[in-house]
Amino acid sequence: MSKDIPILSWQAGGAVLLGCVAGTLADVDKQGSTMAKVLFPVSALLKLLHVKHRALTHSLIFVLILTLATAALPPLYHQVLIAAYFSHPLIDMFNEKGVQLWWPLRFHVRVLPKFAAIDTGSWLETLFQWILLGLSIWIPFHALFEEFSTSFTIFALC
Ligand SMILES: [Zn+2]
Repeated sequence: MSKDIPILSWQAGGAVLLGCVAGTLADVDKQGSTMAKVLFPVSALLKLLHVKHRALTHSLIFVLILTLATAALPPLYHQVLIAAYFSHPLIDMFNEKGVQLWWPLRFHVRVLPKFAAIDTGSWLETLFQWILLGLSIWIPFHALFEEFSTSFTIFALC
């Protein structure tokens, strides 16, 4: 990510919004999900093609295709889109079902053994979400603090 873009700017705000949308985009393959409702034609097409949940849209091949298809975007937005999109299958790998990361191969990849995997709707998932929320707040505020402390130091030296 570029350090030349101030964290309190329209570009940074746009990148955050893009990240919020891109992070949930992979679940367009899950009937009834928010993304499936928003992108109904895509969801309907995936259903018609019998694409299973956590398969094609959660795979490395799809991330590669998305990376190439969106390469014309400005670098900040392209990097945010791909990082946010790819974070979704990575997080889903903590679930007991895992994801078909190497789709079209059928085996599912997960990072935890089944007994320790995080079930959807469990207290562990809630805890995991709070940790991620904390990080997503701490990281930009930390960067903002760094930005201000650097500016203050430069101002103090003048
Ligand atoms: Zn998912």
